[in-house]
Amino acid sequence: MAESLTLPGFVNAHSHAFQRSLRGRRIGGDFWAWREAMIAEAEKHTPQTVRADYAETYREMRAAGYTAVGEFHYLGLGEARAAADAAAEADIEITLLLSAYARGGSPRFRQDSPADYLAQLADLRADGIRVGCAPHSVRACPADWLEEIGRHADAERLPLHIHADEQPREIEECVAEHGVRPIELLDRSGCLGPRTTVIHATHADDRELDLLAASGARVCVAPTTEANLGDGFAPLERLRERGIGICVGSDSNVRIDPLEELRELETSARRSSGRREVCDAETLLCFGADEGAAALALETWPEIEIDIGHRSLRGVDRADLLDALVFGCAAEVVVSGP
Ligand SMILES: [Zn+2]
Repeated sequence: MAESLTLPGFVNAHSHAFQRSLRGRRIGGDFWAWREAMIAEAEKHTPQTVRADYAETYREMRAAGYTAVGEFHYLGLGEARAAADAAAEADIEITLLLSAYARGGSPRFRQDSPADYLAQLADLRADGIRVGCAPHSVRACPADWLEEIGRHADAERLPLHIHADEQPREIEECVAEHGVRPIELLDRSGCLGPRTTVIHATHADDRELDLLAASGARVCVAPTTEANLGDGFAPLERLRERGIGICVGSDSNVRIDPLEELRELETSARRSSGRREVCDAETLLCFGADEGAAALALETWPEIEIDIGHRSLRGVDRADLLDALVFGCAAEVVVSGP
């Protein structure tokens, strides 16, 4: 057997597996137009199609070195169980981040009330599925939903994941409705704490980042998706200055490659800062593994092997291996499967 390097498995802290089918589709002039096509795609699914399609996507993740996934799920309860079954088939650890959706989107995304949502969550837990609370966004959940779900997550010590500050329009709408920005609303609604992960935070202002830091919340970035959708890029330096934990997700699954997520996070920050090292490779790999596991409340998750005889690593000194991995390799260096 060729020489290999053992690393903690990568943790994909934010995935919508059904969006994998949109890869390569030239749709939508901006995020909002893309979103229409995405919703149409979501509406096609049944538990049977989720079971088959997600298993393929999770196998692709596993081959790329992700050994755990946080599936941010809003397709319905039967489909949530099917996603958990698909993950088991593909041998990837799953945390089912069941989305709460009060308004907008597609009717199939929605529950009637926070109590209805919490009953669905309890159903999944009763089946032995690891879950987290996931109010979709401040667009989809009004303040009373956020308050009730935030209280529940806190009482049950469950992860709470929510999209925020991905697009400027979402911030404008939140200010118009509530008089505060999205992360300020999360703070006011009791949704920020050490088990909270805010997805994106692309356009968060300094006060919002201060609130994240004070509460111990994390940010999950999805650089390849954020690039593809024209969202912008994560404020890496401002997150780091405040000591905010960062993890990564493949989100829309336009790409499934943890090394590319980490590289794009860092190189976007290099472009804007004019510096060569905003985060070192060890720190980036920690974002890709340990921080993601913490965001999903995982204590253990499988390791991976890197093929250090791979041609992408030819001529690289042993001491430079981690840097070469992050800055010079694609996920094909991961030795796939036992
Ligand atoms: Zn998302």
